[in-house]
Amino acid sequence: MSFENLNLHPLILKAIVDSGYTEPTPIQEQAIPELLAGHDIMASAQTGTGKTAAFMLPALHRLATPSKVHSRGPRVLVLTPTRELALQVSEAAAKYGKHLPRVKVVSILGGMPYPLQNKLLSQPVDILVATPGRLIDHIQRGRIDFSRLEMMVLDEADRMLDMGFIDDVERIASATPATRQTLLFSATLDSAIDKVAARLLKTPKRIQIAAQQARLDNIEQRLHYVDDLSHKNRLLDHLLRDMALKQAIVFTATKRDADTLADNLSAQGHEAAALHGDMSQRDRTRTLTKLRHGGLRVLVATDVAARGIDVAGITHVINFDLPKFAEDYVHRIGRTGRAGAAGIAVSFASGKDGVNLKKIERFTGQQIASHVVPGLEPRFKPRPGAGGASRGTPNVAHKRSRTWSNDTSGRNANSANGNRDNSRGRSFDSDNRGNSFRGSSNPSPYARTK
Ligand code: ADP
Ligand code: MG
Repeated sequence: MSFENLNLHPLILKAIVDSGYTEPTPIQEQAIPELLAGHDIMASAQTGTGKTAAFMLPALHRLATPSKVHSRGPRVLVLTPTRELALQVSEAAAKYGKHLPRVKVVSILGGMPYPLQNKLLSQPVDILVATPGRLIDHIQRGRIDFSRLEMMVLDEADRMLDMGFIDDVERIASATPATRQTLLFSATLDSAIDKVAARLLKTPKRIQIAAQQARLDNIEQRLHYVDDLSHKNRLLDHLLRDMALKQAIVFTATKRDADTLADNLSAQGHEAAALHGDMSQRDRTRTLTKLRHGGLRVLVATDVAARGIDVAGITHVINFDLPKFAEDYVHRIGRTGRAGAAGIAVSFASGKDGVNLKKIERFTGQQIASHVVPGLEPRFKPRPGAGGASRGTPNVAHKRSRTWSNDTSGRNANSANGNRDNSRGRSFDSDNRGNSFRGSSNPSPYARTK
């Protein structure tokens, strides 16, 4: 299947070629024809599989034909749970729409000044990307004219549900024309999502890209047992000194821990910064831009702030603290291994984390192999059956000297772990981690999954 078969507007195809995409991902292949035919859809696919283009390309396709309604209001509305995700969606709209004449994209996000937003909203808008809370404010003040709205997209609907935004989402939906096309994207389609869909979508097509066994295949998961905070800090310092680590996101349990850890790492000479929900929007945007441009090697983040971040250079995700919910584990480690590149996800687990670890392994259906860094072995011995203990002797990760070798894949360093490596390496045998597929001459990884 190629993009040409999808009947998208030629100027959109041109932008796709510019992006370096050679063929649609499975979710794009299935969703785009349904959307062009005018159907509502509810869709799930693992993170990093190109859901943004799956809705943005058909949205732009609509915009290529002028609206019949005379209005300056948005024709496409995208709701996202976080500001970061909204900005990413706006960037994608600009990227895929760059050859179309006059596609005006406006982002309306919490934490940004109202006067500027009022000004943006008083001008003609084609695509409005918003977080629900702030949009409600503007709707209540009568600043948004939805009379020509044709399409509403709920991106990461499960997350919006978890974050308590669903009432806002429903109120927003009720302010839009009933004739709209509605799209719902979610990591999973469960009964809670079904209820939302039943209220907001019209006989939706259900698209589920089964990825249970394929998902995370390109991400190597490692576990390190830890004794205490100081042990965690020493291990982290060791991991960050690995030359194969291009960029990393380190997850902490709390905003305060994220700040403290980022400060400590900076003091140790690492290019590190924190990202969490208590920071001003300016600071968050500045930090993310820096990360994207490679000016930052280590981002220390909380779950919510890191949601949906898509930065191609992220080779490692480190769970300094394990997430509370197994589902968050998948979201976290999905920040690496973007678009089929290889990635490494390291989790620290202490004696108290046994139950949590089990939940995570049950959720992913994969056991996380435990590793030991020589010289930084844990005193703590996991209980039998907890986490990696059942697999006997832990794998010895690699000698410290290995970290200064030229092996930028970081994968060979783990040869003690033969089977896992082979199965992983085969699915996405890409050593050019750090490059996205955009503009690269390498074939798309999606080509090989067929
Ligand atoms: P998701 O929303 O499913 O988590 P994204 O939409 O953020 O995933 O896309 C992940 C990455 O894949 C982005 O960097 C994007 O540019 C890239 N991508 C999207 N579609 C394709 C494609 N058809 N071929 C190659 N890369 C793609
Ligand atoms: Mg997404």
